[in-house]
Amino acid sequence: MQSFSNVASGDIALSIAARIVENRAYLSDIDGLIGDGDHGVNMAKGFSLAADRLRGQAQPLAASLAAIGDVLMNEIGGSMGPLYGVMFSGFAEALDGVEEIDAAAFERMLGRGMEEVQSIGDAKVGDKTLIDAYAPALQAFSAATANGESFANALDALIAAAEKGRDSTIDLVARVGRASRLGERSRGVLDPGATSCAIILRALAEGAKAKLAG
Ligand code: ADP
Ligand code: MG
Repeated sequence: MQSFSNVASGDIALSIAARIVENRAYLSDIDGLIGDGDHGVNMAKGFSLAADRLRGQAQPLAASLAAIGDVLMNEIGGSMGPLYGVMFSGFAEALDGVEEIDAAAFERMLGRGMEEVQSIGDAKVGDKTLIDAYAPALQAFSAATANGESFANALDALIAAAEKGRDSTIDLVARVGRASRLGERSRGVLDPGATSCAIILRALAEGAKAKLAG
């Protein structure tokens, strides 16, 4: 199958939330090295609040992603509340009204999410932010589908590129956000936002792959 149903896929949002909550301590530890150590705490708080609202609801994927976006936007501190808030709201808007999510719809969703993040954060590849995981992931997905790869293979390409992009942040100096105050001293460790973004994209892609297989 080369598409999956929007209505029957709200549980993907719950699995994204679960992966973030599991990585609470890890993400805060990374943020402690070049930031203020709150990234995992903030993220886990937002995603567990969202999961509480979603559990047992069986909403479509679009509505479930919208609920995550609302909670992050309105109830979470740090840079990531608004950044991930607009990203998830963008995902939701791109999927709104789409019955069957195929690779083209998935690509539009990813593209919209990144546009929204860049519209408020203005970060580019190389600035040591979540964009360093996101941009190559989107590019790899688009390239794979343009090459005639199956939706599932394109999702694998997305996961691999997100994680490679995350790892690329180790060698970068932060140019935006709190870590940029450290200058050269921000080099040598992962960016927390790129790390959480790779977790989110992997969970989203694995959720989609499971639906395609099922
Ligand atoms: P804060 O920096 O306010 O403590 P968090 O710790 O929750 O916020 O998140 C830090 C992460 O935010 C960074 O690792 C980086 O990836 C991301 N980030 C910060 N500013 C931007 C931006 N303008 N665009 C994209 N991502 C950003
Ligand atoms: Mg922080």
